[in-house]
Formats: sequence, C-alpha cells, structure tokens
Amino acid sequence: MREAVQSIYDGVLDRNPGQPEFHQAVKEVFESIEPALERKPEYLDAAILERVTEPDRQIMFRVPWVDDSGKVQVNRGFRIEFSSALGPYKGGLRFRENVNLSIIKFLGFEQIFKNSLTGLAMGGGKGGSDFDPHGRSDAEVMRFCQSFMTELARHIGPSTDVPAGDIGVGGREIGYMFGQYKRLRNSYDAGVLTGKGLAWGGSLVRTEATGYGTVLFAQSMLATKGESLEGKKVLVSGAGNVAIYAIEKAQQLGATPITFSDSSGYVVDEAGVDLELLKQVKEVERGRVADYVERRPGARLVTGGSVWDVPGDVALPCATQNELDGDAANTLLRGGCGVVSEGANMPSTPEAVEAFQKAGILFAPGKAANAGGVATSALEMEQNAGRTRWDFATAEAKLTGIMTDIHDSCVAAAEEYGRPGDYVLGANAAGFTRVADVMIAHGIV
Ligand code: NDP
Repeated sequence: MREAVQSIYDGVLDRNPGQPEFHQAVKEVFESIEPALERKPEYLDAAILERVTEPDRQIMFRVPWVDDSGKVQVNRGFRIEFSSALGPYKGGLRFRENVNLSIIKFLGFEQIFKNSLTGLAMGGGKGGSDFDPHGRSDAEVMRFCQSFMTELARHIGPSTDVPAGDIGVGGREIGYMFGQYKRLRNSYDAGVLTGKGLAWGGSLVRTEATGYGTVLFAQSMLATKGESLEGKKVLVSGAGNVAIYAIEKAQQLGATPITFSDSSGYVVDEAGVDLELLKQVKEVERGRVADYVERRPGARLVTGGSVWDVPGDVALPCATQNELDGDAANTLLRGGCGVVSEGANMPSTPEAVEAFQKAGILFAPGKAANAGGVATSALEMEQNAGRTRWDFATAEAKLTGIMTDIHDSCVAAAEEYGRPGDYVLGANAAGFTRVADVMIAHGIV
C-alpha cells in the first residue's frame, strides 16, 4: 500500500481494535483499488476511504427471550447501517454463535461494494445475533425472532433499511420477524424484509439466486477462455441455501458436483450429489450431512481434513469466511482446480487468494460472484413496490442478465486499470468508484 493509503488503514486499525475480519476486508479493498485512487486523487481529497470505513450508524442491543424450559436467555443483536450512498441500507441478518461486531462489520463493508456492483439502488448494511437456531425448537426460534424484531423494527423500513437472510436465517426466521414487524407497525410493509415466503410477498428465484448466481459467474469466467462447465467436476462446501442451489445450477449446466459439507464434516459422492436427497435432509429435516450418507450408497463422510483435499476442476466455497486457507488453495491447485467462484462472503484467506492469482486461475471474489442473492432481493422489493409478481422464467432471466453485467463490469474495470483477468481488482474498483463518485456528489455527509 502506498503511504497515504497505509496511514488511513492504520487509522482504521487504531479505531477498530479486535476486529480482524473487518481489518481483512478493508485491507483487501484498499490494496486493490490503488490504481483507481491514483487516477482520481479527489477520492483521497474528499476523505472517501476514511468515510466509507466508518459506518453511518452501529446499533447493538439486548435480545432477551425465554427458552422451552422456562429459562431466560440473553443474546446480543447487531445492525450496522454502513452506507446509504446508493439507496436504503441492504444486507442480510446472520444468526450464529460466533457472530460479533467484527464479523458483522466485515460483512456490511463488503455489502457496500457488492450492492454497488449490481448496478441497483441499494446501500450497504448487515446485522445478526450470536443466537444459534441449531437444536432450537420452532417455538424458541419464534420467541427469539420476535424479541430481536421488537428492537430492530424501530431502525428499519422499506425506504430506510431492508434486511434479508444469511447464515442461520432462512424462510422460517424471516417469517417470524416479518410477522412481528407487521404487528408492531400495524402496516403491511412487504418491502421491509426480503427472502419472504411466496404467499406473502416473496419473489420466485430469491431462494435459488445466490447459488445460481455463483455458478453463472463461473460459467461467464470460463466463457472468456472458450470453455464451459459441461463435464467439469465441481467441489462445493456448505450444505445450506447457497450450496444447495449452486449444486442445482451446476447440474443444470452439465457439471458434476461431488462434495458438500457442514460443520460436522464433508461428504464425497463420486457418482454426483443426489440433490433431492440433500434437500430432503437439509431443507426438510434440518439434519446433518451424515444423514445423507446413511441413505446414499457409495457416498462417504469425512470428518477430518478439508473438503478442498478432494481433486476437482471447479471449487465453489459456499459455507463461511476464511474456510479456504493458503494450504487448501495449494492442495486445490495440485488437484487440477482451474476455477474458484466464491458463494460465501470472504471464504478464501488472503494467502489463498494470492495463491490463486499467482497460479493465474479464474478466481471470482464473493462480492461479485455471490451478488445474485442481493440483486434478486432488489427484484423482490421492486415487485413489492409495484404490487406485482413475476413468473420464475422472468425473474431468472433478470438474475442471469445482472450476473452477466456484473461479470462484464469486473472484466472492463480490470482491463481499464491494466490488470486483465484480475477479478479482485475488477470487482473492487468497479464497486468502489460508483460509491465514491456518489459520495462526492452528496457532499461531506
Ligand atoms: P446457511 O445457514 O443456509 O448455510 C450455511 C452452511 O455453511 C451450513 O451448511 C453450515 O453448516 C455451513 N457452515 C457455516 N459455518 C461453518 C463453519 N464455521 N464451518 C463449517 N461449515 C460451516 O447459510 P447460507 O447458505 O445462506 O450462507 C452461506 C454463505 O453465503 C455465508 O458466507 C453467507 O454470508 C453467504 N451469502 C449468502 C447469501 C444468501 O442469499 N443466503 C447471499 C450472499 C452471500 P452447519 O449447519 O453445520 O452450521
């Protein structure tokens, strides 16, 4: 990093101690947008880097609730309203034990540039809680969601801040939170949350969008080399929303996904994942990956090591941040992997990204490759505002168009700044410059 940028980064470290994930996300953006900063010194003059790393607002609150045994539980809720330069704050809610301020801030920071890349009118935000729905009854999840929304409701609204799902927050949780919001406000503001059920304002393709988009991005990258996913062996991590629909789209495009994982281990199914069985186990029964192996002859469960030890042509990390480190990246490369498209947010460590870039393989960072989810959330908001509903084919065609546009803007930005094929630079520079230009237009706010 050059001196001026390094000193701003040092300021971020000083002001935000103990937030390693946030530091990591900021560092990646600062390093890769240097060519854009050189071209437009007004970004530094207008203190864009200092302002864009300081959230508009950081909300933290107590979430008390009573479990099934009558015991009072207390969790912590977060909503980071990071940037409203391009539109209402937009970004998911994550419910998982390890959620803390650093994780929510890294996710919110990434979200600013991801939302910018979609070309749609969305600012960046993120939220969640250290509550983990695993092993909780539906009644417990409902009571938690109602308590969480009782505080969150005063901060959000269809033109203010529009949360959605993320790890641990799916259709069930969005339903309980929407019900409580409606009750508190006495107003049917369908556009206040996205990822809703189809019967009450949800959009077709929203469930599939992130996973589908990640695979469509990989397909677009391959097309630049005259190749496609047809016949390729695909490694997927995670077994949640993003992973399942990445597997589905990869299969539709003629590839063979052979792995998935959760925090209990990973599954290798050389014959190709049985998607119906995986959906039954994960979406219907909320089971573990071992339940799949029990019912699927030939599939094996591995509880040590990493899913990235399996040789394959394409890797789609779809679980969580920093799940793919430098060693895993080198193992993947030795196993013949030539394409990585990130379905999760920041799943590759900086060492892994460096290894992929050094090897010259096709590597798409999450803020570009997984933007299909938030883009389809914007489509859901559009349908809610127009009190209309599109069919599956219409919504999917829009998603495909948006992913192609994101891919092409990354390619164009990478070329403009002299590093063709560098999707990290392309995504960060294209996402950042749109936000920075609007921040300048809005004055010092
Ligand atoms: P889900 O909760 O549906 O699934 C998450 C999956 O990842 C589960 O299989 C979970 O296993 C696994 N997982 C999570 N943390 C770990 C961990 N520390 N170690 C091993 N496995 C882990 O979440 P999503 O599929 O929605 O989200 C996955 C990723 O995609 C996240 O990084 C999220 O931020 C990102 N993303 C999601 C979007 C969306 O639309 N949903 C949009 C853009 C990005 P287990 O059940 O054992 O916890």
